[in-house]
Formats: sequence, structure tokens, C-alpha cells
Amino acid sequence: MFTMVSPAFINPLSEDGKQMVREMGSLEALYNQNADLIEVITKSHLQDISDIPTNYVELALKRIEWYLVHNSKKYDHKVYNFLFNVEITPFDVISFYILCQAIGIRYGPNSRESRVMVESQGKIIENRLEKLSKGEREEVVNRILGSLLTQSSIKWTFFEELLSSKKLQLRDLLLDNGQIILDREEFLERFGDRITHRDPEKMYELVVGAKIKELIAIKMIMQKTEDYMNAVYEKAQREIEPNPMLLEVAEKVSTVLSESVQTYGYGGGGGVGAKASPLSPKAFPPCVKKVLEGIRSGGRNDAIILFLTPFISYARLYPGVFAENVTKRVSDVDPNLNAVQNEVLPMIFGAAERCSPPLFEDQPQEKVNINAKMGFGMHDALELKNEGETLWYTPMSCEKVKIHLPSLCKPDKTCKTIGNPLSYYNKVKRELKKGGAEGEEKGDGKSDETHESPSKG
Ligand code: SF4
Repeated sequence: MFTMVSPAFINPLSEDGKQMVREMGSLEALYNQNADLIEVITKSHLQDISDIPTNYVELALKRIEWYLVHNSKKYDHKVYNFLFNVEITPFDVISFYILCQAIGIRYGPNSRESRVMVESQGKIIENRLEKLSKGEREEVVNRILGSLLTQSSIKWTFFEELLSSKKLQLRDLLLDNGQIILDREEFLERFGDRITHRDPEKMYELVVGAKIKELIAIKMIMQKTEDYMNAVYEKAQREIEPNPMLLEVAEKVSTVLSESVQTYGYGGGGGVGAKASPLSPKAFPPCVKKVLEGIRSGGRNDAIILFLTPFISYARLYPGVFAENVTKRVSDVDPNLNAVQNEVLPMIFGAAERCSPPLFEDQPQEKVNINAKMGFGMHDALELKNEGETLWYTPMSCEKVKIHLPSLCKPDKTCKTIGNPLSYYNKVKRELKKGGAEGEEKGDGKSDETHESPSKG
């Protein structure tokens, strides 16, 4: 036996969710203390009640906060247990809409805030599903998919948006003649005869089953969340005065985000790797020092664009990339791009200028490639609105430097213990900090030495 979970607990954009919003009435109640909400929260299993949200806006901010801290070492689940109590649904739905509207109006679809909103919705759903019983989970996912996937046989092109935005990968789907197979009966009908040595039912569970259905449901809701914020943004462009209460909420979201980036790193990275801090040129490896002096022979463009740009940007902004192994964007660690504009680009441009001939003198268009390698698309100016159009390249491994730019590699003693120029930098920087002692720290070196670029395409 299991209780029926409202689809709105998983998908606030469902019909149930929309009905909850209609019942809410005016926006005036956003900041009012809500006794029903407080009761649900205080009665949630193992809930810490020392700092609970008491109105819709506080609940909305806690939702974002949970996402930002849930992977960090400091995370205490007792503070956020209420988010996974099904009785929170009507309040949670309102807080979801408040966030989408506030972020949509104030920041628009390509902002850091909207991306965090979409990602946090995905993570919340994932964690909520995990906490339901198997029966509840299957039932609610089937109901959600039933309303999201209205066509009986789905062509893969139906998922085009999800695939192009990388929210879903083609390899996650079972395709047969261009049709996506999700339904058990359809699977058995299409493949039953072809499966000879195994039980077709078990094969269905293995290949399609609950896992892929949940994945599709989650990704589709994420996409719908993004679409909804987009629609809010477009509508706001036509309005003269956006709602000041929502603008205020948007500012609060941004503050929570900036504080969390400073405290935990974006997405609660947990500070496994080295922390971002001003560049320390003394800790640069021989190959980087050589490029900074200016390239006077072949390989100039690749040395500046493919080698130096990723190195300097990661060394300054996300030196722990290999240890943490979490993909980030530049704005996740430098929200206003201040460090990029004032520290990273000047160093790269300086090296480009010292080349012979100076890089931008004969090939000014290469500035576009520098922007692209930091994730800001193929544009003349490095602007937040274009972020995500390309990937932020991670620094080349020593192995790749030796193959593609052999003249740069003049190894010294430290080079013997590392596999990537960024590991060299982190190691020497730590040693310099300790007063130049021969540092033999744990956690360095081999974990990030020969790491292939997750972003390198
Ligand atoms: S071994 Fe690696 S870090 Fe050292 S100079 Fe060569 S490429 Fe640079």
C-alpha cells in the first residue's frame, strides 16, 4: 500500500500545481507569517526547528540554499528535511513560482540565477523521488510522464530541446527506428521475439525501466522550468513596471547565491581542491613562464589560446578543478567577471602582445577564440549573456603539451611529480605558502596529474 503523492510535489508546473497557484490569491501574502507552513515544517521528520522559514519568500530562499549547500561538508540535512515532506507541496509550489517569476523578470533566461533555479529543481526532484517508496515513486513518475508525453509513440526529435541543451544524452534513450521506447508493452511488442536467452520483462527493467523514465521526467521538468522563466522574461519586457516585491525576491536570491559561492563554491563543491585566489606567478611551471615571455617561433596561437588561456583562467578562478571534478562556468566562481576582466585577460593579452609578431596585430580575430575557450561563445566581447555557448576548456596535461607544443616543455625537478601544469602550480603555491619548505602534501599530484579535459572538445 502507498499513499498517492501529488504530481505537484515533483512537478510544480503540473495541472495540480497550477491549481494550487490559482488558490493562493494575491502576492501580498508572500511575506506574511504562515501558520500552516510553520506547522508542516515543524512536524517534518527529524526537523531542526531553530531556523525555519515562516513565509513563502523564506521558503523560496531555503530551496535555493539547500541546492547550494547539499553537497558541502557543512551540510546538515536536519535543517532542510521539510523540503522532502510531501505535505510541503502546496507551499513549495508557490515558492517555486515566486522564484521563477522573480528570476525571470529580473535576470532573464541566460543568467546564473536562472541556471541555478533549473539545476536546483532537478536536484530537488531527484532527492524527493529517492525518499518515496518504490510504489509511490513509480506511480507519480508514470502520472507525470503521462501528461508530459502526450504522443503515443515518441520520436527522438521530440526531445530535441533536451538533447541540444545537454539536459539529456542520446545514449540515455532506447531508440528503435527513430522512436523512443519507454512503455513496457511497446518494448515487449518490439523486442520480445528478438530476446532469446533472457527474460524480456527483466530486460525491459534493465534497459528502460524506472531509471530512464525518472531521468526523462526530471529533465523534462527542468526544461519546462527554463521555458517558464523564459516566458516570464519575455512578458516582463513588454511591461512597464515589474512587480517590486518580485524584484526584491530576485535580489535576495542573488545575495544567497553570492554568499554561497564565497562560502562553499558554486553547487556546494565542498572545497575539496585548492581555493581560488590571486595568481601567484612565482608558482607557474616552466612551460607557462615560457609562454608569458612571448612566443617567438611556431605554435604561437595554440600556445596562447589552447594552452595559456585555460591555464591562467583555471589557476586564478578554479584551481581545484581536477580534485573536485565538478564542471563549472566562469561566472560560478567569478559572478561579475571582475577577476576575469582585471586579472585573467590582462595576463593573457600581455603574453599575446609579447609574441613575435604580436598575436592580435596580425590576427585580431583570435580574441574571439580566447573568449570561446573560457565558455563565452564566439563573440568579440566577453559577456555574461553568451556564457555557456562554448565550454570552458580545462588546462592541457603535460603529456599533451609534450605532443602538441613540445618546445614549451622544459621540465624541472617539480615536474617529475606532477602530470598537469595546474597541479604544478597548486603544489608550488602551497609550498610557497608554507615558507618554501619541501612540501610533500597529500591530496596533490596524481589525482589531477593526467586528467583529461572534461570540457575539451
Ligand atoms: S612537465 Fe608539465 S609542467 Fe613541467 S614544463 Fe613540461 S608541461 Fe610544463
